[in-house]
Amino acid sequence: MNHSRPFGIILALALPLAALAQGGVSVFDGGAHMVASTFECGTAGHQVKKQNITIDSGKTRYAFGYSGCTDPAHGDQRPSAEGNFGMPEPWVGNWYWGGFIQVMVNGTDALTYDLTDMRILESGPRGSFQAVWKHPDATIGLRIMMLPWSNHVLCDLSWKPVPDKTVKSVSVVLRCYPSFFTTSQHRQGERHCQTPRIDLKQPQTLDLVPDKDTYLYYYDAIFDKAKGEGTGPCAAIIAPEAVASGKVAIGDYSEDTTVSLKPEVGHVRFALYDFAGLTNAEAEAYLKAQAAPDLAELLKVDFRPSVVRETDPEKFRAEATKLLADAADDGVALKPQVDELLAKIGALKAKADAGDWQAEADIAQALRGADELFWRLRTFAALNSP
Ligand SMILES: [Zn+2]
Repeated sequence: MNHSRPFGIILALALPLAALAQGGVSVFDGGAHMVASTFECGTAGHQVKKQNITIDSGKTRYAFGYSGCTDPAHGDQRPSAEGNFGMPEPWVGNWYWGGFIQVMVNGTDALTYDLTDMRILESGPRGSFQAVWKHPDATIGLRIMMLPWSNHVLCDLSWKPVPDKTVKSVSVVLRCYPSFFTTSQHRQGERHCQTPRIDLKQPQTLDLVPDKDTYLYYYDAIFDKAKGEGTGPCAAIIAPEAVASGKVAIGDYSEDTTVSLKPEVGHVRFALYDFAGLTNAEAEAYLKAQAAPDLAELLKVDFRPSVVRETDPEKFRAEATKLLADAADDGVALKPQVDELLAKIGALKAKADAGDWQAEADIAQALRGADELFWRLRTFAALNSP
């Protein structure tokens, strides 16, 4: 036996620990669970599905919560009070914990239909998860990602018509309560929406110029941390490619941003910021300096799970075959597991290539789950190779 080999194995084991020590993005899935309905649909005895996923960049932690009543009495609807998808952290206000997003497809909110998938895609060098909904006319996917030490989340929303259906119209409605829940706390604020082009205050409607309004900054001039009031403002960036038109209804309580999208584009990218803890001046200065590079990064990032993007199935198959051969007799017992994995990935790859996000997540999960199998295979191969 070559004495350098055990050292090589120890080195390979030490590397993931080193990567961990450098930090990264951690993602935690609280798991789907049922709770008795209270405020969600108001019907005693109904069961509401809940699931929370948090992403922590090392600088800022965001949490996202799904909620929807599953009782058959609602047919294909999954009602949940003011919305099905909220952002309880960094702060319950700003991007509203009780539902900050609606995705209107052919006139109905896709997020009120069945949630068919919500799971982590990756963590470490980047952190992300996806949620998928089944609207009668389209499959709606939302991927949310954080990069290390980032203060905001990057989002990719896709709509894919189901066979024989057409997406005639699609729009996104984003709801925020900047810095303070004014009305419910019996206080009067002064809501604003500011873009690089204009700053309007309540009560008005801001008609967006997509190419010029490259960031949307939502703040309250009264509830400013610099004045010892409120929690801090929030913001959004919406990549203009898919945007047909948009408007921000600047109310005295919520600010609702409605963006009509071009159905043929199939997806829209956006970024959301919760500036909890910052003064209005600090948030404004951040956006003036960083919104443009943040938009460039949003456009550049590949939302596919890294393990899927970086794994070439043919090379993976060739590597597995060589490792099995090198592992010789020690590999025989592992061969059925390897063959099963290769067959599974082959079948999923075709679906993933056709744009099926669930298949793509299944590949990522299968590859992650195979870590131990391949570690054993590599060890046997190293010990047996001539
Ligand atoms: Zn219900």
